[in-house]
Amino acid sequence: MTELTGEVAIVTGGTRGIGRAICEELASAGARIAVVATGEASSSAVAGDLPGDGHGGFACDVSRSADCSQLISRVDERMGAPTILVNNAGITRDNILLRMKDEEWQQVLDTNLSGAFYLTRAVARGMMKRRAGRIVNISSVVGLTGNRGQSNYAAAKAALIALTKSVAQELAGRGVLANVVAPGLIETDMTAALPDEVRDGMLGRVPLGRLGSPEDVARTVRFLVGPGASYITGQVVVVDGGMVM
Ligand code: NDP
Repeated sequence: MTELTGEVAIVTGGTRGIGRAICEELASAGARIAVVATGEASSSAVAGDLPGDGHGGFACDVSRSADCSQLISRVDERMGAPTILVNNAGITRDNILLRMKDEEWQQVLDTNLSGAFYLTRAVARGMMKRRAGRIVNISSVVGLTGNRGQSNYAAAKAALIALTKSVAQELAGRGVLANVVAPGLIETDMTAALPDEVRDGMLGRVPLGRLGSPEDVARTVRFLVGPGASYITGQVVVVDGGMVM
């Protein structure tokens, strides 16, 4: 028995980067993981590689409401009722304000914000009935500070924080806890795409002097969904090496 034995955790964007590290961390703690990404092949491959048994891979485009409600029923049928939801799937479509296209704005809002709303709404009923559940939303320090060239991404990540606090207040009486993890600069495909000078400039503002690893974020999520965090809800935990204080 480990601390998450018996839990069923849905992790969106679980095939790469931070999401994959979250899947590995929660699986090591004993949870069965529903790995979610846009493709079934990649999510099933990750599920097959996780420690322990009983994991599953699922295809779901989180920006689509119908996909999200179906996902919750499919997980329930195959793996049992989900007890943990980690909304991690996210994209960037960076551009300066004057050049930002409607599609760039809309795609980022649909994936990074609406996806979390659709899945939280779909999973909440069962969690409330069972009077237990943990929801963790992966925002960003950019949601706290804003960032040039990321008005779409920053707006979505800030709104995700407000969504989480509202959900935390609505569901607290039914034993469901909701929190945010706001990572800083983490070494993944997303940041590998940044030009060197932008990465180096950001790194210069990190007091701990290094990029974060996906595991740095995953360990924080493990804490927030585990028994040690039973009196914590509606909070934003910043994992950024001290970049934003
Ligand atoms: P990656 O780009 O490495 O991975 C993104 C994941 O999201 C992939 O598994 C991708 O799978 C999935 N995904 C993308 N769009 C959708 C969709 N519509 N439906 C379902 N799944 C989708 O990202 P990171 O690991 O870097 O980031 C993870 C989260 O952390 C994001 O929310 C990001 O905003 C946030 N974050 C990252 C930081 C960083 O420095 N890396 C800093 C702060 C926050 P596939 O494409 O196969 O569907």
